Amino acid sequence: MNTRNKNIKPSKFVLPKKNNVSSYEYELSGNIRNIIQHLGEDANREGLVKTPERYAKALLYLTSGYRNEKSVLEDCANAIFDEKVTSVVAVNNIEFHSLCEHHLLPFYGHVSIAFLPDKNGKILGLSKFARLVDVYSRRLQVQERLIQDIMSATWKLLKPQGIAIRIEAQHMCMMIRGVEKQFSKTATYSYRGQSKFEQTIKGELKYEK
Ligand SMILES: [Zn+2]
Repeated sequence: MNTRNKNIKPSKFVLPKKNNVSSYEYELSGNIRNIIQHLGEDANREGLVKTPERYAKALLYLTSGYRNEKSVLEDCANAIFDEKVTSVVAVNNIEFHSLCEHHLLPFYGHVSIAFLPDKNGKILGLSKFARLVDVYSRRLQVQERLIQDIMSATWKLLKPQGIAIRIEAQHMCMMIRGVEKQFSKTATYSYRGQSKFEQTIKGELKYEK
């Protein structure tokens, strides 16, 4: 299906001046300027002239998980403590924002993570769960893979007796286009570990209503 509007006449393509912009960001903002022009807009008008640079910065932030995964995992590895804990630890309602890889539109919601430490009682600094959620959500994602990415990283770090994760999210690509459903929420659940603990750990997961 050819939906291209042949009446669109992009204005002259002018790249932003290079001052204070890294070459990577510079190239990205040039491509964004191109998109703006292909929407039929004048990328040089006052309100839009700096938009490509701003959007490039925003996009790089929203996909920063590609670039900081290694350092976050190192920080997490340095925040593991031996503590005689024999009960479930649950960190609930960690908010996240991600970009759906099919439409490049945001999806957002909450992640809840609960685990039963290994028999020697290994725990992770609580804020590190939020760092893990950020590193895997700040990239092009689908909710189904996001939960597995968080699961794999947490499992590798803690090697616990069991982990349960629940994600509940709203997807802008379902809300503002396509079926346009404003209230639907998608839930994903993942468990890894000894099956006898699954119900106990699952019971600790709480999430935004
Ligand atoms: Zn989508």
